Amino acid sequence: MTKRIFRSICIVALAVLIASVALIMGGLYGYFSGVQHNQLKMQTDLAAQGVNNEGIAYFEELNAKNYRITLVDPSGTVIYDSQVDPLSMENHFEREEIKEALANGYGKSERYSSTLMEKTIYSAKMLDDGTVVRLSIAQSSILTLVLGMLQPICVVIVVAIALSLFLAYRLSKNIVKPLNELNLDEPLSNEGYDELSPLLLRIHSQQKQLKRQSNELQKSRDEFEAITDSMREGLILLNPKCNILSINQAATHVLNTDQNCVGKNIITVNRSLALQEVLSNAIGGQQSQKVIESQDRHYQFNASPVFSDKMVSGIALLIFDVTEKENSEQMRREFTANVSHELRTPLHSISGYAELLKNGMVKSDDLKPISSKIYGEAQRMVHLVDDIINLSHLDEGAEGMSWENINLYDLAQNTILSLEPEANLAEISLNLTGAPVIINGIQHLVSSIIYNLCENAIKYNLKGGKVTIDVAENENTASVTVTDTGIGISADHQSRIFERFYRVDKSHSNEVGGTGLGLSIVKHAAKVHNANIKVNSTIGKGTAITVEFEK
Ligand code: ADP
Repeated sequence: MTKRIFRSICIVALAVLIASVALIMGGLYGYFSGVQHNQLKMQTDLAAQGVNNEGIAYFEELNAKNYRITLVDPSGTVIYDSQVDPLSMENHFEREEIKEALANGYGKSERYSSTLMEKTIYSAKMLDDGTVVRLSIAQSSILTLVLGMLQPICVVIVVAIALSLFLAYRLSKNIVKPLNELNLDEPLSNEGYDELSPLLLRIHSQQKQLKRQSNELQKSRDEFEAITDSMREGLILLNPKCNILSINQAATHVLNTDQNCVGKNIITVNRSLALQEVLSNAIGGQQSQKVIESQDRHYQFNASPVFSDKMVSGIALLIFDVTEKENSEQMRREFTANVSHELRTPLHSISGYAELLKNGMVKSDDLKPISSKIYGEAQRMVHLVDDIINLSHLDEGAEGMSWENINLYDLAQNTILSLEPEANLAEISLNLTGAPVIINGIQHLVSSIIYNLCENAIKYNLKGGKVTIDVAENENTASVTVTDTGIGISADHQSRIFERFYRVDKSHSNEVGGTGLGLSIVKHAAKVHNANIKVNSTIGKGTAITVEFEK
């Protein structure tokens, strides 16, 4: 703006300057030309008077170097000329000033030389005897005048231009200064130009409107963030170029990033091919989903296109943690495979023995051992199926089972009673220590915990060994500890014995009628009761497993 004002002022100043110089030059030229005409007329009158009085002798004494004097008779023949031989001159009758003087007594004219640099003005007067005296003088043309005054004119122009530039600079600065100093944050506080008032009022009202709109926008953004941040699922909004527009806290956690990723392409945050696949499907207008593993967890990424005017204008990416689901799916698959495997062995031996019986290939002496083997395998299957049923009940959750006050000591005593025959057979003594403790729980689950622990303590014990059940309590907890003097469990197996179908020594477990599910049932039943399990075992010395219930 400063430049434009500066340029305009300069142009105006220059135009004024040129116009002034032209006007002054024209005026001066006109004035001096008039003065010269009058003088010439005066001189012509004097010369006419002199010739009237003295005749042609007048010219002899005359010393008029500036003027050219010519005397012409009424027929136009030149009688005398102060500069040229009259005989060599042509007839002047047709000259404008002569013609006019012969007609009116006085005539004048002016003619330019061929170069236009000079013009000659003529003044003629008819004398008493009819002859005409003519005076002429050379007069500079306006062009000559201008050229003659070129130097001072140039000086004036240069000075005027310098002055104009300086003033234009100052002026433009002064005009723009109040505009530059406008406080647009508070438009109404400005005192500058009155002409700016409508503009400042408009800015003020628009600022108010913008502020209101930005407050509303911020409010809805806060609401949106509050809602999305409280979601357990991750939510990411992307533009069609896959740049992140918004990401909630759960999603930043899953992708191991922070809010600084907003505005960046999602590929800079996660380069997984599966994610790129779902995103490219969404860009193509298709909804798609994939499970991606990250930080030992499984996440399902659902990408849905967002349409506006039938064009994909964005992508909504929802992230669900499906680790539990995936794990239970995996467990279910493994469990089915294990169950089939575990059932196959007893079924094969039962069907083998049955075939021998069917074909009459068993001697009467072998009948008893074979039928007891069939019975044993069938018992194993019954145990296995019982354990599977118990476990699947627990898998479905303990809903519907009734919680009641249970005396742990009584339950331990009942367990000892029911396992006594087994213990006697294995020559193992069963002992109960501690005192009655009441907890709130599901009776048959707590009972199965004590039973399985106690049964294992007998199964994995040595002849003449000892099993002790201790029921104890302290301020907040009640515990049952089953200690045996058996074979013990090495440290690397201790963390795995609670897995389904995990057995330290499979053949030994089969021998003693184990299914590999007893401790899994213990773990699940303890979990239902929020109870802790602690294993303390030394190879060759024995094992102590404690289940600690909240009171
Ligand atoms: P099983 O039906 O085979 O006994 P469990 O789940 O009850 O299955 O036990 C898993 C494995 O843990 C057993 O096979 C056994 O090797 C080991 N185990 C459990 N209890 C004891 C114990 N008291 N002493 C030694 N080993 C044990």
